[in-house]
Amino acid sequence: ALRTAPLRARAEIDLAAVRANVRALRALAPGAELMAVVKSDGYGHGAAQCARAAVEAGASWLGTATPEEALVLRANGGLPDDVRIMCWLWTPGGPWREAIDARLDVSVSGMWALEEVTAAAREAGLPARVQLKADSGLGRGGCQPGDDWAELVREALAAEGAGLIRITGLWSHFACADEPGHPSIDAQLDRFREMIAYAEEQGARPEVRHIANSPATLTRPDSHFDLVRTGIALYGISPSPELGAPADFGLRPVMTLSASVALVKHVPGGHGVSYGHKYTTAGETTLGLIPVGYADGVPRHASSAGPVLVGGKWRTIAGRVAMDQFIVDLGGDEPEPGERAVLFGPGDGGEPTAEDWAQAAGTIAYEIVTRIGSRVPRVYV
Ligand code: PLP
Repeated sequence: ALRTAPLRARAEIDLAAVRANVRALRALAPGAELMAVVKSDGYGHGAAQCARAAVEAGASWLGTATPEEALVLRANGGLPDDVRIMCWLWTPGGPWREAIDARLDVSVSGMWALEEVTAAAREAGLPARVQLKADSGLGRGGCQPGDDWAELVREALAAEGAGLIRITGLWSHFACADEPGHPSIDAQLDRFREMIAYAEEQGARPEVRHIANSPATLTRPDSHFDLVRTGIALYGISPSPELGAPADFGLRPVMTLSASVALVKHVPGGHGVSYGHKYTTAGETTLGLIPVGYADGVPRHASSAGPVLVGGKWRTIAGRVAMDQFIVDLGGDEPEPGERAVLFGPGDGGEPTAEDWAQAAGTIAYEIVTRIGSRVPRVYV
């Protein structure tokens, strides 16, 4: 049964590229530690496999959104015991006690979270590793500057004094780091520095202060502080086409998504193709069936637009992407069924890239790789 799946479609994951990307990023941020962000199953690449590769190459921290992701990595990730794992997306009633027992670093954005984590620490008899999150201007998670920050810092220091928590970090996140020169970048850095200065004046002694995501790591050395949190760059993808191509930063794309051509057939001109007949053949031609669809993460928004390398040429999706398959117009060419169709990869074999798919689907490359579905086997090479 396993034999058919890799033949239909597969996502090859180049772990040597993950390691090389970590080394390239560390060279760009030489004074900082590196946190490999492996949330959402490592942006679709496999969290544990990518985490291990990143740690081998010098990442000393791992980051996830949910505590569940972090707990699974600690329990089953096959990682060295001393790797720090941080998670930041908490909801009331979350697994604080498990997180403390697993020595996770947990983000705290406000008073309810501080109260829950200190209660869990009292029960555990162990101090929780807490990182206070500042909203320096993203307008999402994090504590507002001013009175809210002052209260959180005061209560966190009191909990630290009582031996219930250790304030291991002060941190924040950028809104527009992928738009170089955006005025909010400097404004956020100023605000973050002020919030750090306030907490340190009150007595906080964090091990790490951090705000840089991939785009800031690549373009703003003044944002690196003690640690950089890189996600998309780890997977060899540029945070945005405006910043440049991955190779401009010494990065190599990690995922190659391919499928086997499932059927090739001759059709006359005027033949409607796929649901809604959004494509009609201009003349006599050949059609190829590519057996991946939106259930596999091929965006339906890329209908009539997404590129695929088949038989050495880029073909475009003919009409709509269906749940499990789409059609390409092969223009009379007759590749053998079973031949490999490459949707995206590093690009150096002539294939499209995840960025090309993002453009075709009106989205960002983050979404392209992250949404590749669980029905597509990951093959580690
Ligand atoms: N830090 C936080 C808090 C995040 O949510 C993310 C991802 O969105 C990252 C870092 C990594 O961002 P990027 O993939 O742009 O490096």
